[in-house]
Amino acid sequence: MQTIRGFRDILPENIALWQKVEKEATRLFDAFGFKEIRIPVLEKTQLFSRSIGEATDIVEKEMYTFADRKGDKLTLRPEATASIVRSYIQHKMYATDPIRKFFMMGPMFRRERPQKGRYRQFYQIDAEVFGVESAYIDSQLIFILTELFKRLGLTGLSAHVNSLGCPDCRPSFQRALLDFIASKKDRLCDNCLRRIDKNPLRILDCKVTSCKDVLQDAPATLDHLCNHCEDHFATVKTTLETQGVDFIVDKSLVRGLDYYTRTAWEIQTTTLGAQSAVAGGGRYDGLVKELGGPQTPGIGFAIGFDRLVEVMEQLDKAPQATALDLFLICLGDMATEKGYHWSCALNQNGIRTEMDFRGKSMKALMKRANKLNAHYVLIAGEDELIQNAIILRDMNTKEQVSLPVETLVPELIKIFKK
Ligand code: AMP
Repeated sequence: MQTIRGFRDILPENIALWQKVEKEATRLFDAFGFKEIRIPVLEKTQLFSRSIGEATDIVEKEMYTFADRKGDKLTLRPEATASIVRSYIQHKMYATDPIRKFFMMGPMFRRERPQKGRYRQFYQIDAEVFGVESAYIDSQLIFILTELFKRLGLTGLSAHVNSLGCPDCRPSFQRALLDFIASKKDRLCDNCLRRIDKNPLRILDCKVTSCKDVLQDAPATLDHLCNHCEDHFATVKTTLETQGVDFIVDKSLVRGLDYYTRTAWEIQTTTLGAQSAVAGGGRYDGLVKELGGPQTPGIGFAIGFDRLVEVMEQLDKAPQATALDLFLICLGDMATEKGYHWSCALNQNGIRTEMDFRGKSMKALMKRANKLNAHYVLIAGEDELIQNAIILRDMNTKEQVSLPVETLVPELIKIFKK
């Protein structure tokens, strides 16, 4: 049996970086007042089609959707924002405090063509803020991302920032885009042609090279912003500049989901080839209302966890694997029984202790202690028990001490807690 295409195991020998990122991200979110939320992996399909948009790549061709036994249409979540918005509305969080900051980490599912940095089950670290319209929050989210990446020792990243405008400025942009496209229809792919009527903005994220060429000179949302959106974007930019966050204004950045308004951004890397986006985010001031809640501004980002780890691997940022503190070499039934209780007591006290129950020889067990990279070994055979002198050997210095059975565990705790 093998994993499904695009799905993969993350094995214990590769987990250190994942845990390092989780720890650092949790610490940072906590300092910035974000609370963890855990949302289901499975939701009603409608939640995603209504929020992400019917005419997007995700909804049209990438979702894992199926009917359950009762015929309800369900989908494995392709992203987290829609579910978090659903939760905010379902639990009427806006009624007690409309301003909420959430984060979550977990798997997402998209049936894309698998390649390095692109999987069908991938992981995201997600942050969302509800109830704040101020542009300072836009800058702060981008700042948090750059701060996290800095703490993880990442280099070679650039923040691309754009404004997608709001429902007030969108019609003027849409008209300009349709005018531009009108004379170029014969050079667009079928998918783009279909989207002209359904959702013209989505033409801008077509991945087909010939379409990309045609759209190079397409009008940009940035040239059609209303005054409010202009001011908002200006504050985002000056705030980032003042904070020393490097960014590039990227007129062509549109993001592949319909719900974005105003600020949208992506953090890109030069080290991952085609899959260059390590994180993406944006404002979605209409989404809470669209999904049945009160008018509430929202904004958030998602980090591609798999890609982040891949960049860190390339930069060799893996922490050292934690070695074993103590390996127990217990020879004979009596020593094995005592050893079992000692090891549990030591484990309970947070000391990384292991023993082997296969009745192997001293030589074989020494070999195993070396393989597990044990700092110390404890040697307890029949003789040591009779003489009440259990041997503790430092595998690095080769120094040995002997310890009495009755006080063995507290003595060891003292040594390891030093
Ligand atoms: P999105 O939700 O599409 O804005 O994606 C946010 C981030 O998730 C991207 O910048 C990627 O780093 C990551 N991501 C999206 N799709 C995949 C995928 N299929 N495999 C791995 N990472 C992904």
